[in-house]
Amino acid sequence: MHHIKERIKPFISWVVGDGKFIDPWCDRWIPDIGVATPKPNTTPDPMIRVSDCIDQNLRRWNLAKLSQHFDQSSVEKIVIIPLSSSISSDRRAWDLNRDGKFTTKSAYLALRGRSTQPQDLMWKKFWRIKIPYRVQLFVLKAAVNAIPVREILSQRIHLESVLCPFCQDQPESIMHIFLQCPCTRRVWNISNLYSYVNLFNGTDIRDWLRFWLGCHPYSSTEEKVQKFPLIACIMWSIWVGRNNLIHNARTDSHETILNRAMHLFPNKNPQRDSITQATPAGNRTLSWSPPPPGWTKFNTDGAWDHISNKGGAGLVVRNHAANFLYAAASHSCFISAEEAEIRGIWLAVKKAWEMNYKKVLIESDVEVVIDQINAGNFAGTWSTDALLQDIKNWKSNFENISFRFVPRCCNSVAHDLAHWGKTTMLDMFWASPPIWLMPALGRDAPS
Ligand SMILES: [Zn+2]
Repeated sequence: MHHIKERIKPFISWVVGDGKFIDPWCDRWIPDIGVATPKPNTTPDPMIRVSDCIDQNLRRWNLAKLSQHFDQSSVEKIVIIPLSSSISSDRRAWDLNRDGKFTTKSAYLALRGRSTQPQDLMWKKFWRIKIPYRVQLFVLKAAVNAIPVREILSQRIHLESVLCPFCQDQPESIMHIFLQCPCTRRVWNISNLYSYVNLFNGTDIRDWLRFWLGCHPYSSTEEKVQKFPLIACIMWSIWVGRNNLIHNARTDSHETILNRAMHLFPNKNPQRDSITQATPAGNRTLSWSPPPPGWTKFNTDGAWDHISNKGGAGLVVRNHAANFLYAAASHSCFISAEEAEIRGIWLAVKKAWEMNYKKVLIESDVEVVIDQINAGNFAGTWSTDALLQDIKNWKSNFENISFRFVPRCCNSVAHDLAHWGKTTMLDMFWASPPIWLMPALGRDAPS
């Protein structure tokens, strides 16, 4: 029994019953903080069980005992743990049934209980996606830091080394093993998903999952969400490979890891076909391209809500090396989507002039406006005429300025910025890209 408990320990938290099974120093049993912190200047008593701190007759916490062993902040959290009036045995908060199966419903309830609004949405989407049960369970554990990577395990038991078993270079954290390790990155590389992995440096694994679930703050695209099962299976397969290495001294090749992930899909799943065909030199879809040397490219877009009339305009500036120079978003009330779009172009020309750029390429996904400007027609409605006149006047300040229509897929960074302006109703300027813009910037990155 003890052996089993050791193995499942990192996955679960405990509901206090009689407290006899719970080790206060190792088990996660205190809301928010997990394990107890010893009272300052005392040596933790390794023999103590939670049951020692409960008055079993009155079914109350024994404050004197608690204060004797634990620090004040732990005690404060412990005394609010409810104790049932009848004595029961300690229970795992996520019920692992006798056959070893995990009930996702109980986990969901546990997660829902302690998650904030955006995470709720994430889990809602997560449960809807059909993926193999073991993978679902695995991803769930990853999201709540319950995968026994060495960095997490070492907080509970003594380990010879916390280094990643693949690269032996960095501590094995969840982010490291799944996204940052140079060894596992090759798996993402051959799966054609590598460009996304880079965007999540320094973030949390939940951000990565949210991104693929199309959750806030990442704009949702069906295409992305359809890839989620593959993402999940690759993560699971990396973990299987890691365990093969540790426990069986077997090194799975990157292809083996990827194939194992792909095998979890039924044949009829279109995902499998599209990924199989997508070889590293596979079809390139239409995408953003950097301007020629010496030129600066502005991508602009507008967003507008026809009910509230709230709108936003966004722009992103990049050079010939595809380097991010800056981005801006602004908000206003507009009377049409076109006004918001023209405001975006207006903002771009204004900024370009202020920054003293000489050769400027301005891209927008609104063909009709670009055509109008390129035809030399700067007449507009009462709400757009002034903007178009400004654009006409400012044009002469440049050595060369060119306006070009691009399809929406080549303009997603500006699109996200315009939406940001519309949603937040703020004006903002970024000298380095905000995290929520990374996915869109990543899509534009030359591969
Ligand atoms: Zn590594």
